[in-house]
Amino acid sequence: MNINNLVRENILKLKPYTSARESHLNGILLDANENSLGSVVELNGLELNRYPDPNQNKIREKLSQLLSLPKENLFFGVGSDEIIDLLIKIFCNPSEDEVIICEPTYGMYKVCCDINNVRVCNVLLDLQYDIDLLKIKNAINNKTKIIFLCSPNNPTGNLLSKEKIIELTKLNVIVVVDEAYIDFANDEGLIKHAVELSNLVVTRTFSKAWGLAGVRAGFSVASSEITNLLFKVKLPYNINKLTSDVILNALNNFEKRNLFVNKIIEERKRIENELNNIPFVLKILPSDSNFISFKVEKPKEVFSYLESKGIIIRDRSNQYNFSGYLRVSIGTTYENDRFINELKNFKG
Ligand code: PMP
Repeated sequence: MNINNLVRENILKLKPYTSARESHLNGILLDANENSLGSVVELNGLELNRYPDPNQNKIREKLSQLLSLPKENLFFGVGSDEIIDLLIKIFCNPSEDEVIICEPTYGMYKVCCDINNVRVCNVLLDLQYDIDLLKIKNAINNKTKIIFLCSPNNPTGNLLSKEKIIELTKLNVIVVVDEAYIDFANDEGLIKHAVELSNLVVTRTFSKAWGLAGVRAGFSVASSEITNLLFKVKLPYNINKLTSDVILNALNNFEKRNLFVNKIIEERKRIENELNNIPFVLKILPSDSNFISFKVEKPKEVFSYLESKGIIIRDRSNQYNFSGYLRVSIGTTYENDRFINELKNFKG
């Protein structure tokens, strides 16, 4: 599919900014008005006085090896949140185009649309919180540019059907699959498909399994056409040297990520069992993520009770199609025990 018919005309025509470090990273660098004398901070020999590599070469190369995917298909953002925003900027004309999101889902798709003044069309997930193909197909019109999907979905926790996602990529729209939680699912996700299909974008993050939420780094896998567009519209130096250094370190520590993932999955199973034994917990959604959503009769009261005990979970009961649900992240064994014990003490 030629995706150019979905790209905003001003973005197609855009002559991007060419930054100094685009052409030269070495030499007597007198081209970027940096401070050649050095930096007031010395950290890991990183030459913080120089702008970082705008092409993100080192981290893309390393990730490319790890995922066995071409570097040309990889892009890093300041969290996957930045990539969500950039995709809307690339494809959606403000106050003209539309985006489909499937509720209940991650809130930033709508917020980014609202910021960019792009209309959101809400299509509910089905009763199993999977994609409702028919409803989506009915909601699409010639102004629809992007469908945002989240798999495993936040806040329901489940993987979406791959077959249905692939079916949606046959339509003349960009399909974005947010795989922030894929490391906790027994599934390899859709990154390989995103290399093949020109209108499929998969986003992932270092904020969850890798334990690097404080660093702000995420990446996308997409066709080289879409990846080039992301490079075209991003701010020149979105990934700084400190982030880049941490990500390289992280990618060399894959085993530690795996240890975290295994422990979190083990604890997830334990909490699921514990929740099952609490009489006022009406429903527990099976989770492929690092959190569990569960339904209670009085979500606000349960939330406030836990909060008063210093245990902070997320009240998601106001989301579309999700009334009564609370969401708890899987913590350490101690934190999880505290959560379960206090929850058991709730007297509604
Ligand atoms: N996608 C989903 C589904 C999320 O739940 C979150 C954060 N909670 C993000 C993306 C944001 O990820 P990042 O930290 O990479 O911006």
